[in-house]
Amino acid sequence: MSWYDTLPWLATYAEHGLAAREAVPTTPLATLRRSAEQAPDTTALAYFDGRISYRELDELSDAFARHLTGAGFGRGDRLALVLQNVPQFVICLLGAWKAGGIVVPVNPMYRAGELTHVLTDAGVTALVCSQQAWHEFVGALVADSAVTIAVTTSELDLQTRDDERVLGKVRRVATPGAADLLDVLSSTPGERPPDPGLGVDDVALISYTSGTSGKPKGATNTHGNIGTNAVILAGAGRVEPGATVFALAPLFHITGMVCEVAYALEIAGTLALAYRFEAGVVLGALREHRPAYMVGPSTAYMALMAHPDVTPEHFTSFDALYSGGAALPPAVVAAFRDRFGQYLHNGYGLTETTAGCVVVPGGVEAPADPASGTLSIGLPVPGVIVRILADDGTELPAGEAGEIVVEGPMVVPGYWNRPEATAEALPGGRLRTGDVGFMDERGWVYVVDRLKDMINAAGFKVWPREVEDVLYTHPGVREAAVVGVPDEYRGETVKAYVSAAPGAAPDPEELVAYCRERLAAYKYPRSVEVLAELPKTTTGKILRRELRARG
Ligand code: AMP
Repeated sequence: MSWYDTLPWLATYAEHGLAAREAVPTTPLATLRRSAEQAPDTTALAYFDGRISYRELDELSDAFARHLTGAGFGRGDRLALVLQNVPQFVICLLGAWKAGGIVVPVNPMYRAGELTHVLTDAGVTALVCSQQAWHEFVGALVADSAVTIAVTTSELDLQTRDDERVLGKVRRVATPGAADLLDVLSSTPGERPPDPGLGVDDVALISYTSGTSGKPKGATNTHGNIGTNAVILAGAGRVEPGATVFALAPLFHITGMVCEVAYALEIAGTLALAYRFEAGVVLGALREHRPAYMVGPSTAYMALMAHPDVTPEHFTSFDALYSGGAALPPAVVAAFRDRFGQYLHNGYGLTETTAGCVVVPGGVEAPADPASGTLSIGLPVPGVIVRILADDGTELPAGEAGEIVVEGPMVVPGYWNRPEATAEALPGGRLRTGDVGFMDERGWVYVVDRLKDMINAAGFKVWPREVEDVLYTHPGVREAAVVGVPDEYRGETVKAYVSAAPGAAPDPEELVAYCRERLAAYKYPRSVEVLAELPKTTTGKILRRELRARG
């Protein structure tokens, strides 16, 4: 018996008839190849006005890889995907990998400053976005970036390095009457592109997150992190092969990448996409596609529950529903079950753990902490080791709270070009999550607090520093501190405290509008309060806890 076999949660797995074996490492391209061979005619992608089979998905992504390679994109080059949940997302993702590239998923809600940081930091040379986003702001940024290949979904336009800078790109991308990307790709048959020979340790994604502090940095999720975790989570979710997975979470977030794209590839199932996250649209898509599995933040479930058209019938096709990314209130679980007869499974993970690493297994109900009523986030998934550490790094016994530290095949090797941040967050390859929690005798894990300054607004993560940086550029602001305050719907929301620059009298409403123009919609402060002085320690450090307590 190995040391791993003595871990407390394995007995709990056995009690529920679950296998606890570690997954054989794999990659998403290997699972695509297998599924395309075994189930070529199965629908891989179902969307609002079409379906794409596994054979077509394989061919379309081959065609995109050929276009990229032909434009000079090669192994290790970075391609930014600035797209919503559209089929082109999946095709370009797989195509970029087939060309040997690294994909940088970008939230399409980002504003100019946020996107510029990502393009520069990751050294992006190719970019895919919608025609609309190109015209709104992406095109203008490309001039000052290293991007030489620009593709829009309603038209394909591959730039060569000799092209004029942005004018050439804008002119080409805006050419009226040009074809849709899907049409262009399906009408350019050719050879299968040469295998770039990517292995489990090669970087697949650079996923921007602030980790525990500072400006957003790129977590480097490898092909092995993604492929292997999809196998592990598919096992934990106990969903049947060939089932339909509904993309409730955005594809650009690591949850979407793993629990939607890679997961569907792994089970050779169908990934159903709703073109917009709006409760009514999602409910229509659930009726149409009859999915067996989906994962999204608790607030997405709350939005569905609040819709006037929702009925239990919308959820009868599901084998497992998962909520992740933010705390899952027990009242939401109870209400969902009362009204729709379905249990919401909790799941916990970070960008750095390539989606879930502690989850409630499918068909099992999580216990609640008797003292606080908090629901457990789940059991460590097979192959993962969770430790609870005290401030001095010693391991704490069951029941005692400390920092949650994770080790396993889905933990990223580090951050892109950030050796210091990597050493700090991942000492010895073990991830310090910045979350505080405890584990009970049977291995169930509970999150009780957070060491990091991150604000969790309905699963969208906001780092005070980014919002403060924007506030500091306003001439009326002397000092700024941003904190999370309780919010009935979003769980937490963003609030800014500022003090005025000498002679200035900043208007809170104007400051809100100022941030709104410069930050993605989920990040700008919903309220700003002007104080004569911000509370500080004797060494001059702003007392965030005190500001948080003011509400
Ligand atoms: P992200 O990197 O955006 O996935 O954010 C990861 C963070 O989300 C974690 O460090 C937690 O603070 C929070 N989180 C994720 N899942 C849960 C959960 N089930 N319950 C409570 N917090 C969660």
